[in-house]
Amino acid sequence: MSPPGRLTIDLDALRDNWRRLARETAPAACAAVIKANGYGLGVELVAVTLFNAGCRIFFVAHVGEGVRARAALGREARIFVLNGFEAGAEVGDYAGATLAPVIGSAAELARWDRALPFGLHVDTGMNRLGFALGELDPARMGGAALLMSHFVSAEDGDDPLNARQIAAFERARALFPGVPASLANSSGIFLPTGPHYDLARPGYALYGGNPTPGRENPMRAAVTLEIAVQQTRWIEPGETAGYNGRWTARRRTKLATLLAGYADGLPFGAGATDAGPGPEVRIAGRMCPLVGRMSMDLCIADVTYLPDSAVGPGTRAEFFGPTVALDTFAAKSGTIGYSVLTGLGARYERVLLGGG
Ligand SMILES: *Cc1c(COP(=O)(O)O)cnc(C)c1O
Repeated sequence: MSPPGRLTIDLDALRDNWRRLARETAPAACAAVIKANGYGLGVELVAVTLFNAGCRIFFVAHVGEGVRARAALGREARIFVLNGFEAGAEVGDYAGATLAPVIGSAAELARWDRALPFGLHVDTGMNRLGFALGELDPARMGGAALLMSHFVSAEDGDDPLNARQIAAFERARALFPGVPASLANSSGIFLPTGPHYDLARPGYALYGGNPTPGRENPMRAAVTLEIAVQQTRWIEPGETAGYNGRWTARRRTKLATLLAGYADGLPFGAGATDAGPGPEVRIAGRMCPLVGRMSMDLCIADVTYLPDSAVGPGTRAEFFGPTVALDTFAAKSGTIGYSVLTGLGARYERVLLGGG
């Protein structure tokens, strides 16, 4: 017996995506951001696949993720912890797995042992983590293995903040000659100014997300989510579907009930209501709108225009994958693809493709 939800992870696409980004950033090196359990796909799986593709530098968010990544990767890879020297952690938590925190405040630096590897995070506009430019003091911060900052809206190439952040980062970089510098996330890699410096830090694009919203996605889809139909029914005009009757049939409508819901990480906002449309899923080659509120374990699609023979118990609907863009599914559900991936539930069957 296999679960009714199937998540297919295409390891060849993951590998090709990293290689594509590495070509784009060369001669700068290309790291891989594998935080949040490898954006929901499994940190060990992603880390090993990308190491085998040639990646040698990895970024996680938390020290605990770094410990897991280290166990999977062996000694050769370098692993940075983006959240820095985390509150509540000890030097030994990092040293035990040779993890380098990206230090983001004077308080963190004071607690760190500078004989051990570390990076420096400089804040250029996010106001979240990192030293302000005026706090940078090369005399007291020597030995850093990395100088990095992070874009606020790199996915919007027209945002003037990008150029301001690049200028601020240049000033920080001038204070630390010879220290490898890193600024670009997935979208940053595709900015016209190409601020790759020594090391790029893509995450989302590796997993097939579009780093260039509004333009054609240069990446391959690496994740496919399919959910099986449990039953179908006809309803009459004026009847509603789902909790609180938020969606009303305007014509005789055939509904299909699908075996996954928000407990599986599907966005609560994924479903048309009388107030507006929602995302569409592909069933038997046709795009079918999700209708009504997302339930915990179920959701409902309008399959009126499918022939009876095309949909029944066990028919699979593609929520996103090769023919339904993750970014589109997410946007029409009122969220972002990052949140959809990192929220993927635990009840799916996980199928791996490629990786040989
Ligand atoms: C998550 C993260 C990245 C990767 O961003 P993507 O948009 O997923 O490519 C890079 N740098 C930092 C600091 C991050 O937090």
